[in-house]
Amino acid sequence: MDSLPEKVWHSLKSEEVLNVLESDPAKGLSNQEAARRLEAFGPNELTPKKGQGPLIRFLLQFKQPLVIILLAATAITLLLQEYVDSIVIFGVVLVNAIIGFVQESKALKAIEALAKAMVSEATVLRDGERQRVNSSKLVPGDIVLLQSGDKAPADMRLIKSRELQVDESALTGESVPVQKAETVLDEDMVIGDRYNMAFSSTLVTYGAGQGVVVSTGDRTEIGRINELIASADILETPLTQKIHHFSNILLYAILAMAVATFIIGFIRGQDLVEMFMASVALAVGAIPEGLPAAITITLAIGVSRMAKRNAIIRKLPAVETLGSTMVICSDKTGTLTQNQMTVQDIVAGGIRYSLTGVGYAPEGEIRDEEGNFDLEANLSLQELLKAGVLCNDSTVKKAEEGWRVEGDPTEGALLTSAMKAGYSVQQLTSDFPRLDTIPFESERQYMASLHDQGEGKPRIIYVKGSIESICVECSVIYGPDGEPDVPKAGAITQWVESMAEKGLRVLAFARKEVSPDTTEITHADLEQGLEFMGLQGMIDPPRPEAMDAVEACQAAGIRVKMITGDHAGTAAAIAQQMGLCGESCSYHTREVLTGKDIAALDDQELVEQADSTAVFARVSPEQKLRLVEALQKRDNVVAMTGDGVNDAPALRQANIGVAMGITGTEVSKESSDMILTDDNFATIKAAVEEGRGVFDNLVKFITWTLPTNGGEGLVILIAILLGTALPILPLQILWINMTTALLLGLMLAFEPKEEGIMQRMPRDPSEPILTRTLIERIVLVSLLLVLGAFGLFKLEIAFVGGDESLARTLAVNVFVFGEMFYLFNCRSITRPVWTLGLFSNMFLWAGVGIMTALQLLFTYAPFMNSIFQSAPMGWTEWGMVFANSLLIYLVVEMEKWVRRRKAEG
Ligand code: ADP
Ligand code: MG
Repeated sequence: MDSLPEKVWHSLKSEEVLNVLESDPAKGLSNQEAARRLEAFGPNELTPKKGQGPLIRFLLQFKQPLVIILLAATAITLLLQEYVDSIVIFGVVLVNAIIGFVQESKALKAIEALAKAMVSEATVLRDGERQRVNSSKLVPGDIVLLQSGDKAPADMRLIKSRELQVDESALTGESVPVQKAETVLDEDMVIGDRYNMAFSSTLVTYGAGQGVVVSTGDRTEIGRINELIASADILETPLTQKIHHFSNILLYAILAMAVATFIIGFIRGQDLVEMFMASVALAVGAIPEGLPAAITITLAIGVSRMAKRNAIIRKLPAVETLGSTMVICSDKTGTLTQNQMTVQDIVAGGIRYSLTGVGYAPEGEIRDEEGNFDLEANLSLQELLKAGVLCNDSTVKKAEEGWRVEGDPTEGALLTSAMKAGYSVQQLTSDFPRLDTIPFESERQYMASLHDQGEGKPRIIYVKGSIESICVECSVIYGPDGEPDVPKAGAITQWVESMAEKGLRVLAFARKEVSPDTTEITHADLEQGLEFMGLQGMIDPPRPEAMDAVEACQAAGIRVKMITGDHAGTAAAIAQQMGLCGESCSYHTREVLTGKDIAALDDQELVEQADSTAVFARVSPEQKLRLVEALQKRDNVVAMTGDGVNDAPALRQANIGVAMGITGTEVSKESSDMILTDDNFATIKAAVEEGRGVFDNLVKFITWTLPTNGGEGLVILIAILLGTALPILPLQILWINMTTALLLGLMLAFEPKEEGIMQRMPRDPSEPILTRTLIERIVLVSLLLVLGAFGLFKLEIAFVGGDESLARTLAVNVFVFGEMFYLFNCRSITRPVWTLGLFSNMFLWAGVGIMTALQLLFTYAPFMNSIFQSAPMGWTEWGMVFANSLLIYLVVEMEKWVRRRKAEG
């Protein structure tokens, strides 16, 4: 096939479609042919929709109110023929726009790169083998296997559908899942009615199916409308919105003040041009224009720090929400535990066995309680092990590093246990070919498969799953001799509990013979006539790093709850080992809540119980949603993990939905705020830690910037109100403002996390960003800056005998160096600076170095002297500058010290 045929795929029979696309439903394409087609038709990727182009984004930088004021000032100074002023003001506007543009681009790039890093995969049939391939490698003709939780990777004509349901809202906006089938349809069906097709980017919510790819990339339906991934507004978060709002109010207040100043000056009969410039200076000085940029950058740095620690942020607001996480609800299997399953105990036909060996290597022994092993003598054990192999979609393989499982570790363990007894997986699967399957779904907690046992023999259904899903008190067990037995009352429960108490994950097995002409199984077939064979119990050790992380979270005031589909006994045992609940923690002491218990509680009771319970077992995905809601009723900020398709609502409801990068379904990833690339609980803890760091750095920046703006605004305001000479000229204010915000303040975004960041309680999200303490500090520092600048300006003129230019240069330096010293105070809100490690933030030193150099230029370079009306200073002036800066530094450290003392006492 060399060109893409244009056909109305949904109106063709599936055989015709396969014919046209030269594909084989049983084998798929050959790897070679797939590679050739990839070459010919290109990768299965959507051309990214053009976001705002660089030019537009650059021009948008001028849309800020402050910039508009400055542009107006440029125009007016031009009219007044004050050309130096116009050039400087316009220069500042330009530099500001360029810097804003560069930084915004960097942040956008960082976030886009992360989005790209998350590849999605698809299961295809090639060369007769199932393979997981990167979705971008799909080509027309590929046979794709779909199951619930998958995202359809391309447009496909379905060739098989087993109760397949697809959520097509990405394409049609219709959120009710569509039931699919493979029947032929009329040509004129609209997209929403083409139920023999699965379209790219739609989500499989139920069932399973198989389809042949008919179009890829931009040729898919979604590619045609290309409504995906609009990354333009991803830089917004609740915090940025709040700050935006705050800035707007501030802006109007400041503008009103500027106008008032102008009017006062006018009434007093002062020079109008001078008054106008002073009003502009007031506005420029007082508006914290560096704030939005600083927040974006701090968040972007947070995103990349988290990515380095295996947490991929999908939604920017999660970065700040993470910092105030109060409850983490985590899956057990794979997240808290290693998902390295090894069968240790077996009960079959009423006889107990134990197994040796670790991992998936088929090396180890099976022994009964007397130390013997006679497989021949126990038909029930034979059938149980066979069922484990046949009712199974996974494989174990010997790789270089040792034996590995491909697929579900729970299933891998069953293959290993059968091999330990001497079975060959290949032999069994070819002797008893599978005719039909009911796949495992967490709601139903079982899987069943139908097998042929040879000519003339009855066919057989094997079922494996949780004991509750098979039979809690089975009335018939399949005895060692193949004859039905009646179990002793309570025997099965006792077997299950003795395994669960050891922390073993327990799977029950049953069989049912059916007539030789059976070709399908339904859920109804399994409701009666099942013969219970026995149990396999597998160990899944806790992850050591997750244990440490649980401890760290508890120290940080974050409660960790385990939510699992597993048995209550197993859950309690693992929870105990991990320190999630006390010694006595068990189902019997009612410290573990099961799905059944939850179902019996009304919403109000659940709020109570959800809060006080740490372990939830046999929980269904819908109950996860109820649990999140219950926890949120108590104003908890909840992080919740999930991997399955039905976890999506809970993930969306949680403040932070956490999906699993390795084992998670596409659906769960799409609904999440954050993805763990290593599926590890410890990564959630790391992300919370980084989240707290981000928030700290934001607060530090705000605490630094506000006194600067407050001080600058006040200096001008007071001077005008008093009717005295301005200690700092408008252009000088512009200079200070633009250089310090960038070279000093922004460097706080790079502050490393403070020690002990995980030893304090989570931040209450309803608490304002600026606490009273901080507001008081901001006022204090503003006053110190104003007093210093004003006082020294007057002192210089009155006593030292300097001229106005010199005195103003002095005042400017008082501001710049005062801010510089105060910057070091702001490295920590509470601690003394010297405990932080003087050189732990080298960016800050770089900023300080450049700023000092610029100030020397400002003070001594003749061209700067003529632009800014500055004048070279002598040692006396420098002495005053440093004395004042040091004073600010010491006063703030003292204030911190007093507060620490108060907090302790
Ligand atoms: P979790 O991920 O919290 O451990 P699951 O939903 O995966 O919970 O498993 C719940 C129960 O379902 C397990 O205790 C086990 O009995 C059963 N189960 C798990 N995986 C399979 C499977 N592949 N086939 C059949 N039953 C399974
Ligand atoms: Mg699971």
